[in-house]
Order: sequence, then C-alpha cells, then structure tokens
Amino acid sequence: MRYDVAIVGYGPTGMALAAFLGQLGRSVIVLERYQGLYNLPRAACWDDETMRSFQAMGIAEQMLPGTQVQPGYHWVNGDGETLLEIEYDNPGRCGWPQQYMMYQPHMEDVLDRHIQSLPSVEVQQGVTVTGVTEGAQGVTVSAQRADGTLMRVEAAYVVGADGGNGPMRKHLGGALDDYNFMENWLVVDFEMRRPVEGLPSFRQVCDPKQPIAIVNIGPKHHRFSFMLDPGDTREEVSKPENVWPRVRDYLTPEDADLIRVANYTFTSAIVDHWRKGRIMLAGDAAHQMPPFLAQGMVSGIRDARNLAWKLDMVLSGYPDDLLDSYQPEREPHVRFITEKAIELGRVQTMRDPVKARARDARMMAAHAANQAPEKLRYPALSGGMIATYGDLLPQGEITDGTRTGLFDDIAGRGWQIVTRDPTIPTTLSDADRRDWAKIKGGTTVFGPNALTDTSGTLTRWFDDTDCDTAILRPDSYVYGISNTAADLHSQLAQLFTSLGLR
Ligand SMILES: Cc1cc2nc3c(=O)[nH]c(=O)nc-3n(C[C@H](O)[C@H](O)[C@H](O)COP(=O)(O)OP(=O)(O)OC[C@H]3O[C@@H](n4cnc5c(N)ncnc54)[C@H](O)[C@@H]3O)c2cc1C
Repeated sequence: MRYDVAIVGYGPTGMALAAFLGQLGRSVIVLERYQGLYNLPRAACWDDETMRSFQAMGIAEQMLPGTQVQPGYHWVNGDGETLLEIEYDNPGRCGWPQQYMMYQPHMEDVLDRHIQSLPSVEVQQGVTVTGVTEGAQGVTVSAQRADGTLMRVEAAYVVGADGGNGPMRKHLGGALDDYNFMENWLVVDFEMRRPVEGLPSFRQVCDPKQPIAIVNIGPKHHRFSFMLDPGDTREEVSKPENVWPRVRDYLTPEDADLIRVANYTFTSAIVDHWRKGRIMLAGDAAHQMPPFLAQGMVSGIRDARNLAWKLDMVLSGYPDDLLDSYQPEREPHVRFITEKAIELGRVQTMRDPVKARARDARMMAAHAANQAPEKLRYPALSGGMIATYGDLLPQGEITDGTRTGLFDDIAGRGWQIVTRDPTIPTTLSDADRRDWAKIKGGTTVFGPNALTDTSGTLTRWFDDTDCDTAILRPDSYVYGISNTAADLHSQLAQLFTSLGLR
C-alpha cells in the first residue's frame, strides 16, 4: 500500500499531525521506535492556541481532566521576595485560558485514542526508521521492527517528527543554527499523596545559588527543576536520597511519591532546511528551545497544524510549492520564541550574585511601582501563504440563533470569508465564487439575520484592526484583512493564483 503521508515519530508533533491528516481523510502511517506510549511527563504546560488545536480535533473536553488552568506565573529571588507576577488571560485570544498545566501521559493517551479511532491512520510502534529514499513519485522509508525484521513503506510525503536526536534531521542534511545555549538541569516529578498548602503552582526561584523552577504538571502531579553546577554528576544528583533534600522546603515523602528523575541538557538550535523534496521536518526535529517559555511542544503542534492543511491540498492536486510556504511561516515564529526563551532563561538563572542583586533591585522596583510586565505577544506569520495580517483570528463565543459556542465550532473550519459587512458575499465575482467553491471555502457573516458575536471578541478585533472582512485559513490564521470589496477581491485573486487556479 502507498500512503499519502508517512510520519516518523509518535511524540506530540507526530501525534498532532496524524490526528489532523487523519481527520482530513488522508491515509497516514506513523512509525515509532518505542513499543508503546512513553507514559512519563516531559512537557508541563500548553497555551490557548494548543487548546484550539485540540478543539479542532474534537478532543478539547477530553483533555481537560489532565489539566489545571494556571492563573499566573510568579518569580521570586533567593530570599523569596517577589520579582515579577504575570497574570494569564482567561480566556486568552483563542477562546481558552491562556495557560494550562498538564500531565503529558494524559494528553498522549487522549490523542492516541483519538488517532486509533481514525480509519485512515495506521500507527506502528516498535518500528525504528533507518533510512529514506526519495523517488520522483514518492518516498520509500526503511525501518526495522523490534523482532529484527525489516520493513519498507511507500508514501507520497514523509514528515520527520522524530525529535532532536532522530535520523530525519541528519537525512535532510541541513546545517544546524546552534545558539550555543547549553544548560544542565535536574528535573524531578512527584505524584502527590495529599494536597500541600502553599505549594507554588508556577514559580521561578531566581536564586543565584540554586535556580529552581516549580511547576504543577496537571492534577496530583508536581515538578521541581534544578539548574546543576559544573561538578554535578548525573549518577549522584539522580539518587532519590539526594533529591529529597533539594525539595525539603516544599515536600516530604509523606506528601508525595517521587516518580521520575531526569537529567536534561537544555539546548537551542534551528535546522536551516525544513524541507527537501518530499521530506519535511516538524517539531523538535526542526527546532529545539529551552523550556523557559514552555513553547517547545506547543511549537511542534503549530508546525503540525500548518503542515496538515498544506499537505492535504497538495495531495488533492494543488501545487507542490504550497509546501515551500511552511518554513518561511514557521521558522521566524519559532526563532522569535527561541530567542525570547533564551533571554528569559538568562535572567532567571543568573549565577553571578552581584548581577543577580542588580536584577532583583531593578525588578523589585518595577514591581513596587506596579509596573505590569509587558505581555509577550508572538509575531504574526509573514511571507508564505499570507497576503496581509498573518496572525490568529481571535476566538470568542458566537451564536447562530440556535447554537451558541466558540467561533470555530459554530462557523466551521477550512477556508472562510469572515465578515461583518452583509453585502460582501454579494460582491464576489462568478470566478471568485467558482474558485472559492473549489477550495471548499465557507462564508461567515455577522449582522442582522446572520451570526451574532455574543462575546464581542470579533467586533473588538474588527475595530482594532480597522477591517470588516478577513480571509481565514484552515489553521485559524488570517490570510488577509480588508474593508472594501475591491481589496477582498484582490486578496482572493492572489490566493487563487498561488493555488494555481488562475
Ligand atoms: C524538562 C522539559 C520540560 C518541557 N516543558 C515544556 C512545556 O511545558 N511546554 C512545551 O510546549 N514544551 C516543553 N518542553 C519541550 C517538549 O517536550 C518538546 O518540544 C516536545 O517533546 C517535542 O515533541 P516532538 O514530537 O517534536 O519530539 P519528541 O517528543 O522527541 O518525539 C519524537 C519521537 O520520535 C521517535 N523517534 C526518534 N527516532 C526514531 C526513529 N529512528 N524511528 C522511529 N521513531 C523515532 C521518538 O521515540 C519519539 O517518540 C519541555 C522539554 C523538557 C525537556
């Protein structure tokens, strides 16, 4: 059998891509070297955009039992004095709370059950990919099963979602842009036996003697991460008898069970080529960042969502060039976040006591003066398949008179013209209408006898961006905004040209 897409790796990125492609009816095979799900937490949190992606898969509600909404983020110095307090939006602009703490095994379990229910997706675990060969019509993936037997898989496209140490990155042969950021951390996870009053749910202890991150990782679970010193060895620091004294100010063995001790070297690097012909990289295979912004896995899920609709269109006969828009859209976004994460990490983990005191004085003065920290906004997409704007369309509650819910659930997904000008649909030319129908575009109109923006989210967005109409892509990013029929027409013409329809 020849698959539409072979995915190497069943981590969060590979899972998200399999779910999106399977939902679109694409035949997909996933090859994963582990026999089963990893079943231990790595990532700790995700954002509202990730919840919107799970909403698109129809599994957001199932994710909730493994999460805890996080109201804010607290930084303290070595004396426990507050340096910074960040308040998260609830709801965030994607219609869900901006920050969730989560238990990754629950997330992977929900994703896996969803993927296994998709008839066009096949997941093969215990299969290690050893090579890929590209031909004119497709790619052959070579792999070895756990019992030593060899297998070959034919697919039109292959996506390497095999993490930072997988073979696909090496196969593509691109250079690595390494930020030379390297920090050695001890990460210890606990399963709570009982609630512990005062246990911080999201705190950075910016102590130059010992930087610590304390995070809730979903219901009944907690993580402590300690930056290690140059002389520390993995063997010594990982011993439970050496872990417990590190957490004694917060937890005792009566409070919790130690369930995992891991030693990570946080690195940051971005591969310079994310695509070579029919092979693409996504997630950690394409980029790695330190976890200070909790955006590594989240970025991989963004990659998956960006790639899924493009692969689907190309597999439907639209120009293969569409896949060339993937890296130009995603790389600057990931680069911005990576650089911010490194910058933030350097502030949090300052080891020089003099510099740390100066940092404390500066941050405490700002805190005392009630200077709220600037909200970190990630950049819009530019280049690629974007005419103007390129950011996410915010999501709030809307109603069509009979159903009330979040925008994506009521308005539907796929290409959409979203407008608050009821005359707009009548201004489309016959050619626009024909080509819009070809890409299964929908129209969502707000106004009398149409949809009502009950939360006011879109009304505020239309006002703030000074537009009446948006062309929305299948991944909830805005292709273009306009406030005249002529501008809309010219953006549609640009879109149809890049899709080879004109
Ligand atoms: C301590 C820590 C905390 C973090 N916290 C957060 C957080 O809070 N939020 C966040 O968004 N991110 C966080 N991250 C980052 C996040 O864990 C990663 O970005 C994420 O796991 C990347 O997912 P992935 O699917 O791209 O790669 P991976 O999770 O590495 O998955 C790759 C998969 O490919 C498989 N594979 C590899 N080679 C082969 C092969 N040859 N054949 C078949 N299969 C193969 C692997 O077995 C694996 O299952 C954190 C990371 C660390 C280390």
